[in-house]
Amino acid sequence: MQKQLICPCGSGKAYAQCCEIAHNNIYSVKTAEQLMRSRYTAFTIDNPEYLHKSHHSSSRPNSKREREQNAAWAKSVVWLHLDIINKYEGNENDKTGTVEFKAYFLENNKANLIHENSSFAKENGHWVYIDGCYNF
Ligand SMILES: [Zn+2]
Repeated sequence: MQKQLICPCGSGKAYAQCCEIAHNNIYSVKTAEQLMRSRYTAFTIDNPEYLHKSHHSSSRPNSKREREQNAAWAKSVVWLHLDIINKYEGNENDKTGTVEFKAYFLENNKANLIHENSSFAKENGHWVYIDGCYNF
């Protein structure tokens, strides 16, 4: 990963000034949207440790096999773009929040997207992803 690259999350900032800060210190993440963006970037640069850390302990895949499968899938697709569509709460002083997003990717050379309304909460003093609802 070349650090002068623009951050994959679409913030327009350099990776080093954006999601890399979150990846190095999850406690630096102030909002649910920031956590969402940093998780998207973690998918694009293959950072399964961060994906695990930023996932609520009650809903994250705890088996090694499942984690490896998820990581293998994330690596097999070409991540294109993240759009934050909407958000509710999830600010610095909130305890929970939701973020609706669309993540675009190529899978087997076909364009595809994940459109999800994700729930976030704070666990152990930092934001984590709980789960997503795909009912659109
Ligand atoms: Zn970023």
